[in-house]
Amino acid sequence: NGLKKYFPIHGGVLGKKVGEVKAVDDVSFQVRPGEILGIVGESGCGKSTTGKSILRLIEPSEGEVKFEGQDITTFGSEEMRKLRKDMQIIFQDPYASLNPRHTVEKIIGEPLLVHGMKSKSERKKRVQELLEVVGLSAYHASRYPHQFSGGQRQRIGIARALANNPKLIICDEPVSALDVSVQSQILNLMEELRDEFNLTYIFIAHDLSVVKHISDRVGVMYLGRMVELTDKEKLYEEPKHPYTQALLSAVPEPDPDIVKERIILEGDVPSPANPPAGCAFHTRCPFAMDICSQIRPEFQPVDNQHFVACHLYDGRQ
Ligand code: SF4
Ligand code: MG
Repeated sequence: NGLKKYFPIHGGVLGKKVGEVKAVDDVSFQVRPGEILGIVGESGCGKSTTGKSILRLIEPSEGEVKFEGQDITTFGSEEMRKLRKDMQIIFQDPYASLNPRHTVEKIIGEPLLVHGMKSKSERKKRVQELLEVVGLSAYHASRYPHQFSGGQRQRIGIARALANNPKLIICDEPVSALDVSVQSQILNLMEELRDEFNLTYIFIAHDLSVVKHISDRVGVMYLGRMVELTDKEKLYEEPKHPYTQALLSAVPEPDPDIVKERIILEGDVPSPANPPAGCAFHTRCPFAMDICSQIRPEFQPVDNQHFVACHLYDGRQ
């Protein structure tokens, strides 16, 4: 709720603060228990920072993060430590996030140890169980990350995230580094695990086609802001925000009978250190009006549960 993350920019010989990067700039949304909420946007739009701020791996500058009714931004380190059992993250690059010097048993066993499973044999048993849950085998436990393929390494990352039976998993581009053929296997696995363990995911991706299959709802971010959020079907069939429309027009259409008009956006994404006034998208928007460069559009429902931040829909609630 009202989540902001500003990073200071230091400059000059004295290293004084000369500005700030508004990586996440007043973002509000809810995640429903058991759902997969996709968050999509180009690199630098603030989607990873949003995910990490929710877990407080990055400290939010402002705003609330409510988990089961409690604002966790007020939690002290001990309360946060306990909460980390319930909230986990899976990273984009499974290789970088797995310690190359540790066996799989140690990697997956570590969160178990941290949360109080002192007995080594108990941990070993649980690690074997987790390996099987993600489609690997007990004998993989004694191996090292470099002995696995990219897809297998992401399975290890998923097993580690599942170790303490979390409720929410933030998936930060978990398949972006994988071959297309492996991507769908991992996505299918993640969907099965959600059903089996009643998980909730925030699934971050830069590609609308990746989240299309797996998400229940999808949010679109641009320059640190959420610009549209609704049910998957609605978003793909009736996108309201001009930026979403442009992103969708770039997704290849598998049906050759459907001819799509590609919307080409002018210019580059502006710097989040100096975002345009008003609607941050106005410098590239084909529908920009006078008001767009002056007043920031509110993120509000245009119809039931379809949120859009765009002046084209002002007064149509
Ligand atoms: Fe385009 Fe204006 Fe809507 Fe922004 S508010 S997306 S500039 S029409
Ligand atoms: Mg990222």
